[in-house]
Amino acid sequence: MIDLSLLGLSDKNSGAYTGSKSLQTSGKKIECSSPVDGKMIATVDSCDFDNYDKVVSLAQNAFVEWRLWPAPKRGEVVRQVGEALRENKLKLGKLVSYEMGKSLQEGYGEVQEMIDICDFAVGLSRQLYGLTMHSERPGHRMYEQWHPLGVVGIISAFNFPVAVWSWNAMLALVCGDVCVWKPSEKTPLSAIACQNIVSDIFSKNAVPEGVCSLVIGEKDLGERFANDTRISLVSATGSTKMGKAVAAAVGARLGRSLLELGGNNAIIITPDADLDVAMIGCVFGAVGTAGQRCTTTRRLIIHESIYETVKSKLTKAFMQLRIGNPLDENNHVGPLIDKGAVKSYLNAIDACKKEGGKFVVEGGVLEGEGYESGCYVKPTIAEAQPHFNIVQHETFAPILYLLKYNALEEAIQIQNGVPQGLSSSIMTLNLREAELFLSAQGSDCGIANVNIGTSGAEIGGAFGGEKDSGGGRESGSDAWRAYMRRQTNTINYSQTPALAQGIKFDL
Ligand code: NAD
Repeated sequence: MIDLSLLGLSDKNSGAYTGSKSLQTSGKKIECSSPVDGKMIATVDSCDFDNYDKVVSLAQNAFVEWRLWPAPKRGEVVRQVGEALRENKLKLGKLVSYEMGKSLQEGYGEVQEMIDICDFAVGLSRQLYGLTMHSERPGHRMYEQWHPLGVVGIISAFNFPVAVWSWNAMLALVCGDVCVWKPSEKTPLSAIACQNIVSDIFSKNAVPEGVCSLVIGEKDLGERFANDTRISLVSATGSTKMGKAVAAAVGARLGRSLLELGGNNAIIITPDADLDVAMIGCVFGAVGTAGQRCTTTRRLIIHESIYETVKSKLTKAFMQLRIGNPLDENNHVGPLIDKGAVKSYLNAIDACKKEGGKFVVEGGVLEGEGYESGCYVKPTIAEAQPHFNIVQHETFAPILYLLKYNALEEAIQIQNGVPQGLSSSIMTLNLREAELFLSAQGSDCGIANVNIGTSGAEIGGAFGGEKDSGGGRESGSDAWRAYMRRQTNTINYSQTPALAQGIKFDL
């Protein structure tokens, strides 16, 4: 199905890479199979702790040199990475789709996001602005500058096997940091493919070995990052459970963390919505990537006057969904990542029923030809109540809960009344409703949209959420600041010593 050699992979792969070199690792063997057809793709020998230490030491050494490269020169290397990704877009996108199970379109889209962030980072490499301030003392100048931080440890989730790394790494690289990446143990091959693309460009540009490294392993390797004082910033994407563990460990050593965690995203549909526009956002938001996006739409909060209309439109749309091999562009919905995810999906359906939920589109696991991996499930819709325990939780699967509201204030309360705060939307053509939703008394999420769904962010904006969603911001806007340390500088160019606040201290 996939020609591994096209991206420098083989049947048996190492679990640690420092640039042009791969190390001989001896950790637990990871068997990578595809949720698309259940077939084994390749194996990876995880990175053992000795090799992990070697990789991080080398990264530290590389940082000493890399931080002195002028930022625009670092940007030029990132520009070439972007070009290489353009050349490899189809191959890498297909591997992502096959290894993770998202549609081919979304696999390509993910690589496009990587290209976009490279472009963004190249521009940024000539900015990274600090401010100047006026000093209260005569003959003094004050300004702030931003310096590279050090080693950035990137922990990523399975559902965006490559893009999340690039959001972090491309910014970190232009900022003068070095990166060590621990991808999800469920999608290591896409990570190795990225490493191969980058290391080729790095070799051509004589970038020091260790500026971009990759270590593959399970949760215990991520825990190493969190406890390792050599890692200046741990940028972790994954479940809230993982984020809380990482935050506690990094916090205990007063390190820095950037957390991008789970979501429980809602769309409010008001009587003033354009329902044709709304439907695409709702259906793609709920079933895109088989409900395995952090920004997947999990709750629809619908005004009671249009509730039945929306319900029947959604039911009709769900009935038309084609579920099957994601590499076939005619299909809308691919598989879940593995059988563990299928179990969580089935458990959530049971839990919802037990709490009184009523399914208007029934779920279930698909069997038979084309579904041999056992990972294909039916997207499902349940009528539920906002307070249901299951509705309060993120189930990483295509289950959509319908909730009813009467007044917009109540809808906003329902939308905000969950532990997570990642992405949110309102569907309305009414200016007052839209502005209330976007105001300080509106959505409490990091992302709030009008007339588009909750998923499908662009790289130009800062991406991230509040509350249990972690509070971190990645990607565009001024997210780069998380990857640098700020230094305030005051320079006295006069001939008189002067203390701030007019304090006199004469000798
Ligand atoms: P996960 O938390 O199981 O694993 C994510 C990564 O963390 C993996 O690399 C894993 O090995 C590592 N890990 C797990 N426990 C750890 C620990 N205690 N210490 C250090 N590392 C640890 O998540 P997943 O199943 O791969 O991904 C799905 C989750 O990720 C969902 O909750 C989804 O919403 C979230 N997610 C969030 C964003 C975002 O930007 N907010 C993006 C993608 C996915």
